Amino acid sequence: MTIYQSFLPAAGTLDGVDLPTLAAHLPTPFYAYSASAIRNRVTQLQQALKGLDARLCFAVKANSNIGVLNLMAGLGVGADIVSLGELRRAQRAGIAASRIVFSGVGKTEEEIAAALVAGVWRFNLESADELALLQAVARRQGVIARAAVRVNPDVDARTHAKISTGKAENKFGVGFDEARIWFDDAARYPNVRLDGLHAHIGSQILELAPFEEALGRLATFWRELRDDGHIIESIDVGGGLGVCYRAGTDRPLAVADYVAAIRRGLEGYRGRIVLEPGRHLVAEAGVLVTRVIRVKHGQERDFLVLDAAMNDLMRPALYDAWHDMHPLHAEPRPLQRYDVVGPVCETGDTFARDRQLPRCEAGDLLLIAGAGAYGASMGSNYNSRPLPAEVLLDGGRYAVVRRRQSFEQMLAGEQLPQAWHAA
Ligand SMILES: *Cc1c(COP(=O)(O)O)cnc(C)c1O
Repeated sequence: MTIYQSFLPAAGTLDGVDLPTLAAHLPTPFYAYSASAIRNRVTQLQQALKGLDARLCFAVKANSNIGVLNLMAGLGVGADIVSLGELRRAQRAGIAASRIVFSGVGKTEEEIAAALVAGVWRFNLESADELALLQAVARRQGVIARAAVRVNPDVDARTHAKISTGKAENKFGVGFDEARIWFDDAARYPNVRLDGLHAHIGSQILELAPFEEALGRLATFWRELRDDGHIIESIDVGGGLGVCYRAGTDRPLAVADYVAAIRRGLEGYRGRIVLEPGRHLVAEAGVLVTRVIRVKHGQERDFLVLDAAMNDLMRPALYDAWHDMHPLHAEPRPLQRYDVVGPVCETGDTFARDRQLPRCEAGDLLLIAGAGAYGASMGSNYNSRPLPAEVLLDGGRYAVVRRRQSFEQMLAGEQLPQAWHAA
């Protein structure tokens, strides 16, 4: 039997590292990621997939720190990338190009050319235009590019609208009818070996049914293609596994149930199965450690003003996302309700409204949980705030995997007008 494992830190420690001690060494806010928790998630998924020809390609956009990617590389995990920048990161981290898939609706000619030169394993194509472009670029380079068609299975993932990707109205993938034409017209694309199917229906999915529906439609399409003599070497089932952001409320799927659904859905398929998990592998392994700047007693409520802001962790502002929070002070204190906010000049810079927390005071440390995915990777310099540090924790030790950005680094690339050019 498998149960869903959570990694919320207890008593101020994460992966054997005392976070208040760490905060004495590092400026807040900073991200801390538990290497053990990430390893656990990866090996649990690998175990569940035993016996299948399965390949894990971590969705780099979830956490693109090269320290984290290097951990993935060491576990035999490849990468799902969506830009040239992510390709460079994956390569810098030691992920072999032969384990990289390239997704995204807006791949440019430059990106396709560079990815081909690098030797990425396959392109997940999202439009006929992209297919034609891949053909042209591959022909110019005198190579055969491997590709999968990303189909849009028109399935409602029943998740937040901004992270739903598999409905017909979304910008991602193509319909089965169009995909069908690509295979039938394969002779028109001699430099593209189209032998894969791909679907990714959304993120933070907490139910099995949307996955089952999408797998069912993928399998039906695969059988049709097979019966017509098309060889499908890989089926990429995307990512999307949800995680627990709110203890006691969010009930993520057990990995065993998810993998059982893949086995059932793709029964009879003997090729390679690709998974592109992002959030599931890293979200709960990461926390954002922040300090209370002050408690502001407003006219209607009390505000906890943190030194972290929406530019560090955008999910609450972007998706109204809930993150559990835990003050790191040791002694028990009475509970109180706060609006937890950052210093950025936006009302949206709010981590939580009317949240009950043990009383906090200026200088107290607060941990924001579930911050390992779509946290640092979505960070920006808004309000001219330097990017925070990122730290990898592993069995009582820590290593800084990103130094906090300096003001000089933040300004690098900007200059006063040196010369004016006529245009
Ligand atoms: C974002 C993305 C993923 C990862 O999604 P998670 O919900 O983080 O698992 C996988 N595949 C593609 C194509 C994506 O765009």
